[in-house]
Amino acid sequence: MILPIYTYDAPVLREQAKPVSSMNEEIVALIADMFETMKAARGIGLAANQVGKLHAVCLVDLSEMDEEDRHKPLVLINPEVVDSWGEDVVMEEGCLSLPELREDVRRPEFIAVRFKDARFEEQQIEAGGLLARVIQHEIDHLNGIYFTDYLTGFKKTIVRSQLNKIKKGEVETDYPVMVNGEIIPA
Ligand code: ZN
Repeated sequence: MILPIYTYDAPVLREQAKPVSSMNEEIVALIADMFETMKAARGIGLAANQVGKLHAVCLVDLSEMDEEDRHKPLVLINPEVVDSWGEDVVMEEGCLSLPELREDVRRPEFIAVRFKDARFEEQQIEAGGLLARVIQHEIDHLNGIYFTDYLTGFKKTIVRSQLNKIKKGEVETDYPVMVNGEIIPA
């Protein structure tokens, strides 16, 4: 089932997702719906907060990317960045919850992330490049953080008007969104 994506400034996007204690039907269904929702919106990552659920679950799908960035789809349950290294790198980010906004964000280049996979088995992987970037972005969502929170000064001022437009539902998306408790179809 394709779920509407909550956009700025939905309260659920500022909340901390709760750790998943065991696999159950609700989580299995949530993961399936999130994959369908992410694909329909042509996203490469999605966190449960973005579909209004406060479970610590996020997805990353780089399977359609060019070879250097390509990676099999990942389900990350209770993910945690346990280490980061390398120089911070700047990369442009966008977000399905922040339609039409793209800005440069500085983040560590490499991370080690621990999580439970779709079978609820413990995993730890090292990631760099786009994969590290998307994982960090999605884990931020689970902690109530938007990429725009990292912007400072002039940049912050520039995005404020776009954030206000999103808040009022004055942006067009080709996927269903939830604005002020109301579903706006694609
Ligand atoms: Zn996002």
